[in-house]
Amino acid sequence: MARPKLVLIWLKRDLRISDHPAFTAAIQTKLPIYAFYLFEPDLLIQPDVDLRHVRFIKESLMSINQYLLSFRAIVHTHTCNAIDFFHQINERYEIQNLFSHQETGNSESYKRDRKVSAFCKDNGIIWKEFKPSYIMRGLKSGRMGWKDKWKSWMQEATSEPEWNLAKERNLFLRSAIPLNLNPEVKLVLNNKFPFKKNQLHNFQIGGLEESENTVASFLGSRYKKYSGCISKPEESRTHCSRLSPYLAFGAISAKQVYQRTYSTRTNLSYSGKKQLDRFLSRLAWRDHMIQKFESECRIEFENFNLAYDTVHHLRKENFIQAWQEGRTGYPLIDASMRCLLSTGYLNFRMRAMLVSFLTMILWQDWRWGVHFLARQFLDYEPGIHYFQFQMQASTVGNHQIRIYNPYKQIMDNDPNCYFIKQWIPELRKTSIPDIHTWGIESPGLFSTKIDYPQPIVDFKTSYNHARDIMFTYQSSPEVQKNLNKIRKMHIVDRRKQSFR
Ligand SMILES: Cc1cc2nc3c(=O)[nH]c(=O)nc-3n(C[C@H](O)[C@H](O)[C@H](O)COP(=O)(O)OP(=O)(O)OC[C@H]3O[C@@H](n4cnc5c(N)ncnc54)[C@H](O)[C@@H]3O)c2cc1C
Repeated sequence: MARPKLVLIWLKRDLRISDHPAFTAAIQTKLPIYAFYLFEPDLLIQPDVDLRHVRFIKESLMSINQYLLSFRAIVHTHTCNAIDFFHQINERYEIQNLFSHQETGNSESYKRDRKVSAFCKDNGIIWKEFKPSYIMRGLKSGRMGWKDKWKSWMQEATSEPEWNLAKERNLFLRSAIPLNLNPEVKLVLNNKFPFKKNQLHNFQIGGLEESENTVASFLGSRYKKYSGCISKPEESRTHCSRLSPYLAFGAISAKQVYQRTYSTRTNLSYSGKKQLDRFLSRLAWRDHMIQKFESECRIEFENFNLAYDTVHHLRKENFIQAWQEGRTGYPLIDASMRCLLSTGYLNFRMRAMLVSFLTMILWQDWRWGVHFLARQFLDYEPGIHYFQFQMQASTVGNHQIRIYNPYKQIMDNDPNCYFIKQWIPELRKTSIPDIHTWGIESPGLFSTKIDYPQPIVDFKTSYNHARDIMFTYQSSPEVQKNLNKIRKMHIVDRRKQSFR
């Protein structure tokens, strides 16, 4: 018996309904459509996934489905590995097309995509993957002219699905296709990732409305103090865009953010424009970094510059545990970590400082912290995360060696210890000067009664140790030789400073 025809839309990190080429293309076929998101056990058990991500995805999908109701459309969810899913659907339907966005994910999602791609080839299914932003697949050469191309891409028209056509023709299958699944898998995952709405407090909430409110409030007024507050752990929470989880899971596309920012910028004064220009530069960095990872995903596991492979580290569980729990005895390090654990967010400077502290001051290999932080960042985006982590761990070789001084960071970014006192209740009654010099000055009688540790290592000794090794490495012929290759592949034209 002939199998009924079907077009598939596979949602991944593109959880939205506008500027969505996969929905657009599927609706244009005018064939029956099955839209779905897969909670894939093989991916969910990876060390970079946390309940916070699953919760955010579920909230996003709930929100999408609320919007789609009026178009008689729906995105179904299945707890199933992709390849099992496609096998089962293919038995019952003649799959005409598979549409999705092009994912720059971790090594597991890459392996999964290769399996799906082979399956599609074997079964004559055309899988069309759409670029999520200006990210080129298979790019192996240098990137001259990248900035101009990036700007042109951002200025192109967005892809708007004809939702009314989908509704008129009743294109979407509204009943979930029943699959034969191992019920135990679902049970195990539900236990690992129990979902109750609003279960986690203090976290940004997934969804189209929340994403829209975040853009609107940033471009309405929050941007005004963007540059001044970007490095400050407390103020950045209000004056940075806070769009990162929405961009990471695709509730809004980078192109949509770029175009809305650009149109707001047009009517602003010189100083307003300057604030938004800085923000736009970061949007470009985003794609710049994702492109690096797309071209060289081995950096999830390997040093970016392989000459650093010979650096010797001795794993110290007590150091790693103190760092993870926010009990290193360095107030700003610990406040940052505790804040991150509780809210899923930390600004750039404090993220960089946490990595520099783990890798330079505690002298631990970056690989011993990279997945832990991936789990904590609600906005975990593999393309940004692995490169940034290595940049802050100074294993690339072409950047200034980064060893942040946590004492100086307090003076620069939390001089009144507001952030520190908020996240380290043990220090609420400690005077500001005592916090500024915690562990440097010998503790007074009062300090010894506080249930907050003295520094786990001596800063100066650790700093000198790391500096000597890392500077020697950076100037070594081995690092420089690898650097030439890295530059050829990844460096964009330096002449152009602005990404606008
Ligand atoms: C070790 C480390 C790991 C990081 N991991 C991630 C990650 O997994 N996901 C993530 O989105 N960001 C990551 N960042 C970058 C940065 O810290 C966050 O993007 C930013 O703090 C998010 O806040 P925001 O949306 O308010 O940023 P804004 O300053 O408002 O910036 C707007 C957007 O630009 C992008 N962006 C901002 N800064 C950078 C940057 N330095 N590099 C690349 N893109 C940037 C983000 O998409 C961000 O949402 C990491 C930084 C470090 C040091």
